[in-house]
Amino acid sequence: MYQVSRGIYRELAPQIVTGRDGHEAVLRSSESAVERLATDRHYFAAPARSLFREIRIHFPIQDQARVWAVVRDYMAAAERALAELTTCGRDAFGNTLQCRATTRRGTSCRRLPSNANGYCPAHQHLGVTEELSAAA
Ligand SMILES: [Zn+2]
Repeated sequence: MYQVSRGIYRELAPQIVTGRDGHEAVLRSSESAVERLATDRHYFAAPARSLFREIRIHFPIQDQARVWAVVRDYMAAAERALAELTTCGRDAFGNTLQCRATTRRGTSCRRLPSNANGYCPAHQHLGVTEELSAAA
């Protein structure tokens, strides 16, 4: 996964206009966005847009479109790679995935999530409820 953040940084580094601090900030923002994508995807809305908003101040106005295109493409590739890993029951760091639901006894559900919404088959209705409230 760190290849993704390094890739974003490497593509964009020549256009950074805010000096050494800018380079550090762009690399750090890319790393934390990718890490969050890998570990906290369900609570991370619009990852590409939020990374772009964070780093765009380090680039001149005429490069903004290219910066956005790079961020969008790399984050999309990372999401696809993560979706594939998710089907193996592990996140990008090799941790076992667990259903996001809390049981009636207040403990977290230990079943394997069955698809991209992060819930096991018994808790799919929670995913649907979330989608509806997000759409509303
Ligand atoms: Zn469950």
